[in-house]
Amino acid sequence: MLDSVAEKMKQIWAETLADIKRELSASDYEAWFSKLHLIEINDDIAKISAPSKYVKDNVTWRYADVIARALNASGCQINCVNIDVYDNNSSEITEKSEEIKTPTNFASTTVLDKKFTFKNFIVGKPNEFAYAAAMRVAESDSPAFNPLFLYGGVGLGKTHLMHAIAWYIKETHPEKSVIYLSAEKFMYLFIKSLRYKDAMSFKEMFRNVDVLMIDDVQFIGGKDTTQEEFFHTFNELVDNNRQIILSADKSPSDLDGMEDRLKSRLGWGLVADIHPTNYELRLGILQSKARRHKVKIPNEVLEFLSMKITSNIRELEGALNRVVAHATLVGTSITIDMASDVLRDLLRSNEKYITMDLIQRKVCEFYNIKLTDLNSAKRIKAIATARHVAMYLAKQLTTKSLPDIGRSFGGKDHSTVIHAVKKVKENIANDREFATNLEILTKSIEN
Ligand code: ADP
Ligand code: MG
Repeated sequence: MLDSVAEKMKQIWAETLADIKRELSASDYEAWFSKLHLIEINDDIAKISAPSKYVKDNVTWRYADVIARALNASGCQINCVNIDVYDNNSSEITEKSEEIKTPTNFASTTVLDKKFTFKNFIVGKPNEFAYAAAMRVAESDSPAFNPLFLYGGVGLGKTHLMHAIAWYIKETHPEKSVIYLSAEKFMYLFIKSLRYKDAMSFKEMFRNVDVLMIDDVQFIGGKDTTQEEFFHTFNELVDNNRQIILSADKSPSDLDGMEDRLKSRLGWGLVADIHPTNYELRLGILQSKARRHKVKIPNEVLEFLSMKITSNIRELEGALNRVVAHATLVGTSITIDMASDVLRDLLRSNEKYITMDLIQRKVCEFYNIKLTDLNSAKRIKAIATARHVAMYLAKQLTTKSLPDIGRSFGGKDHSTVIHAVKKVKENIANDREFATNLEILTKSIEN
């Protein structure tokens, strides 16, 4: 039966190699793949032997994703490609694969996303600090801050920055060993090592790493033994001057279910948070993504999406992709009307947080006037300005129609709203202080 496992591995590997061969130049294929062997597939992890550390590192960095894709095309379901060197001749290992227990010293490499580079990361006020910290760690030869702890809400670029650091180091220091994995995978590997009574190999795996990145560490909270192991691994690496980079959805001190000593230890290095996006950053990101699409996307549509979709960048990207896909499939051009139609559900869920009531309340607070005055017909300048601003914000931040907006201000006509929007736009263009105030006000409503 064991022989048949080895046979099966050989067959899968032959198919996979044939696939990869088609993708690469003959010389690249010969250099990197001719001496690789698939040893085993365990759950979603493929284990592959390489003839030397040099080959192992290069293949891991350059081709882990290519291998994963090709294996999956051959019918596997691989999430993780582990490549490592064996002392013995590797072909021998394949034949005796049944003898291999849990292999030691495996670099566990989760496939990195090609798009998540520093070059593709748009920097703005909300993320400039985290970006600078990530860049600094990527450029430093010895640990700059240990650990670097990145935190922020979902979809704001934590994983992107971590992958960017990994890509950067891969390019500048291909000899360095970098491990990136999710906290879930970390726990999975740890629990597996316990089950196979092979805690040593778990420790070994991290012992020779130069840079260890663990994403979403909030998931480690509450799991006592994993926390304990994490703590030890962490201390050992820091003591040996290895760089550790962590991310979470909260700051170290706010992590639930995490032991106090671990929380405090996690905050020893540099803690950098990514703030919720602002309009400029969202627009910047969309403009950069839009350039990569073949179809033409008018800037006003990008402005519209940046104004309306405030939740996070993942959703913003998704929205753009949907609009582009729709335009391509149906063969229409992209306009604001078309986008709001295609994204009706998404716009509604983003709007949920910004109600007319909220806008009116915030505007009254800001201009220090009463709500009854805002909704009255009074034309005193201070009140009229606040009313114009509130109507403008209602138009920008909600999907309500002009007549609807008018009605919410004590039964005004839609032409009054049009007039208000025009007035505010003029003021933005001519009055710097007004524009700044409006920006502050918008932020206070959005966040
Ligand atoms: P997180 O890990 O914080 O949940 P991700 O790093 O997965 O978020 O980011 C979600 C998506 O948004 C990704 O596709 C990522 O490329 C994109 N993204 C996030 N921040 C930026 C940025 N500053 N510039 C360009 N794209 C970004
Ligand atoms: Mg993430």
